[in-house]
Formats: sequence, structure tokens, C-alpha cells
Amino acid sequence: MHSSIQTKLQTLPLPLQELLSAAAVEANDRNWPLYLVGGAVRDLLLQQTEQAINFRELDLVVDANHSASVQGAAELGCALHKLYSEAHLQVYGRFQTATMIWRSHPQLGNFSVDIATARTESYPYPAADPDVVVGSIQQDLSRRDFTINALAVRLTPPRCLENTPVLLDFFGGLTDLHHQHIRVLHPNSFVEDPTRIFRAVRFATRFGFVIEPQTEGYIRDAIASGIYQQTQTHHHPVPALQSRLKKELKAILKLPNWETALVLLSELDALKCLHPQLKIDQAWWKQTQLALSWLTLFDPSVKAIQPWQLILELLVAQLRSEDRAKVAENLCLGEHSHQRLSTLAPMQAEIHSVLIYPRSPSQVVQCLRRYDLPTLLLVTAQSPLTVRQRIWQYLQEWKTVKPLLNGNDLICLGYQPGRDFNAILSKVLFATLDGVVQTKGEAERLVLDYFPL
Ligand code: ATP
Repeated sequence: MHSSIQTKLQTLPLPLQELLSAAAVEANDRNWPLYLVGGAVRDLLLQQTEQAINFRELDLVVDANHSASVQGAAELGCALHKLYSEAHLQVYGRFQTATMIWRSHPQLGNFSVDIATARTESYPYPAADPDVVVGSIQQDLSRRDFTINALAVRLTPPRCLENTPVLLDFFGGLTDLHHQHIRVLHPNSFVEDPTRIFRAVRFATRFGFVIEPQTEGYIRDAIASGIYQQTQTHHHPVPALQSRLKKELKAILKLPNWETALVLLSELDALKCLHPQLKIDQAWWKQTQLALSWLTLFDPSVKAIQPWQLILELLVAQLRSEDRAKVAENLCLGEHSHQRLSTLAPMQAEIHSVLIYPRSPSQVVQCLRRYDLPTLLLVTAQSPLTVRQRIWQYLQEWKTVKPLLNGNDLICLGYQPGRDFNAILSKVLFATLDGVVQTKGEAERLVLDYFPL
């Protein structure tokens, strides 16, 4: 794998190769070693065919130990921005990390490059945001999560072996790629940052790798030591941790084989990081399959809710009603999800109390029409068969039924436009739904009877 990194880099789309060369020239002019790091190196090494990978994001690191400059990344970003003025440049944070963003690049689509200055970090307490200082490339790679993510390709000279870019592999990442192992860099890693537990599961599932036994042991130790409480605590809130946890969960639930990842999280007892009582059982899987199949059917253009978000809400909906809102808040689930989950219990009680008895179509519509599709799917998932059947009929048949008359028809009949129109049209709709009227003429007679002119 090592010897072919040059060949692999040549499979990158031409604009990316040109960008990396330009960045290397700018860095070299300043005497700064520049590295391609992180997921791109891993994915290039894993690439089986010569087919180009369409990267959305590249990570570059400038080794500041050589430059002795915290501003290295920002300066490099500005220099590149002069060459690529169509990109948007953001420089932020104490470390002046630079991000260049292309929206709708003609060849690359939405694309970004992160340029960071090499750094090293320590954690003041478990799960805290780390203290960070400028460091060497080796230190920068040693603060990363897994060996397969701690590889770097040196883009600037000196190059060795016939101009082949140097691949830095301080932690055995190449061997682990070869053996398909997810291996953490140090025993305390999961205690320092519990999101890494979710990342381990995500990469293992995505690549079909295994979490090697010692790393799995560290995960279990971290969870047994109560680290999961850090992700839920309100004593010293760590919002950065919680939003990163949500980002990882989202990435997991967007995997094509997200079910495998959830099973692994459950086996590792890692769902505790979301809530100590959270479990997934047979009933949950059934409910979730049902809700997702209804989502595909009733929201084919994915406007109401993304599948990953529905799965996450279904997970939280497993909890006791009084815990749902807190978990939604902790996980930064957003206003709509929070609202749905915190009011799910009363909504469910109300819907059940109406639909458990035989009801006419218009009664079902009156009960359900104030709820959006995601709410109905959450309710459906935990409902008995009779209720599910009514909700199904509502979504499938009755939701789209229109009254046989519209506002213009009422004006033609001699009614003055106004607030009563809603009441009249609802009356017509309910009569239409219940088959009381079947033609426009019958609807007009009904209106004239009930609402005399
Ligand atoms: P993906 O293809 O999913 O984006 P990636 O490896 O690029 O994979 P990112 O989340 O973009 O994943 O992270 C970029 C790099 O930053 C990783 O490869 C890893 O080296 C490092 N990294 C990200 N999150 C962590 C973390 N929680 N702890 C340590 N290192 C991390």
C-alpha cells in the first residue's frame, strides 16, 4: 500500500491534484512542511480500483515546529485564496485554522479544504474540550482517534524514494488498514473523548472492519467507569461534546448498514451515552421498520423528515416520557424534534382515546389533521393495530380528499366571502369523506340546508 500512495494521489480529480500542488508550492516557499492527513489518506489507501474518489473535504496540516508560527495555516489559506479567489475563505479560532469552501465547484461540487497548524493537546478533565498548543506533525497525529486516521502524506520536499511523497505512519495505521482493525492510539482515548466510541463503531461498520480486542476493552472500561454520564451531565455542560455526539450519531444513522452499527453500539453498552435506560429490543426494531417503510411511502421526496432523524427520534421515544425532552435537548436535536418528543405522550394519549373506538372517516380526519407526518409516524410506531390501521387509512386515503365545493362555488351560490367559509367547507369535506354527499349538486343542497342564505 505504501509504495502506491503516489499512484493513488494521481487518481485524484485533476483540480484536486492541482490544488495540492499549489498548496505544497506555497508552503515550501515559506519553508513549511505540509501534510495531507486524516480520512483522505485512509480512503486513498483503501481505494481498490483506479476510479477517482470524489472527496468532499480534505485536511491539510502545516508543521509549525519547523515554522515556529501559529499563523501558518491562516497565511497559507490567504496565499491559496489569492490563487483560488472563487472560493470562500474562513479563518477562525486561536489556532487560526483556515477553511476554503467551494460551493458548486464545476468539477468537485460542494468541496472544502481545512488547513490547520500542527498541534498537541491535553484534557483538563475527562470529556472536556482539550487544552491545545502548537506541536509537531507527530504530536498532531498522536492526538487523533485511530491508527487508520493517524496517517499523513508529506506534500512538500524533501521527498524520498524517487520523488514519492513520504507516508508518515507512526502508529501502525497501514498494518491496521491491512488487517481491517480499528485500533485506538492510547488507553485513555475514550475517557478523554466519548464520541470516539461512536466513531469507532462508525468506521468499523462503514469499512466492515473489527474493533480490535484491546480497543474494545478500552471502550467497555470507559463505559463501565461511568464516562457516559459526561455526555448527559448538567453540572459542567459540554455542549461541544454533545453536538459532536449528535454529528456522529447522524453519520452512523446515515450509513447504508446503520442497523449493524446500532447493534454494535448496543452490544458495547454505548447507548448509555445517550441515556442510561436506552435499550433496543425486538419491538423497537419492528416499530422502526414500520415507521421507515411508511416514511418512504408517504414522503418519497424526503421533505417531512430525514430517515436518520426519524430513527433517532424513535430511539428517544423509547424512553419514559419525562426523559425524552431532556435527551432531545442534550443531543441538540433541534426545535421540531424537541417539540415532538416532549409532547409525544399527550398527543399519543389523545389519538389513542379517539381512534381506539370505531370512528367515521371524518372523525378520524378531525382527530389527525393537526399532526404532521413525523408525529404520526412516532405515534404509529407505538400504537396497537386498530390505531395503526386508522392512521394508515388517514394517510393513504382520507388525508388528500378535497371537499366537493370550493370558495368560488360558495360565492356562486350567493354566500359572502368571510370567516364562515371555513366552517362551510369543513362541513362539505366531512360529508364528502363520510359519503353523505357524492356529487356537487348534493353538496350544494347540504350547504343550503345547513347554512341558509
Ligand atoms: P469521514 O470520511 O467520515 O469524514 P474522516 O476521518 O475525514 O472521515 P472527520 O470527522 O472529518 O472524519 O475527521 C477528520 C480527522 O480528524 C480524522 O481522520 C481524525 O484524524 C481526526 N478526528 C476527528 N474527530 C476526532 C476525535 N473525536 N478524536 C480524535 N481525532 C479526531
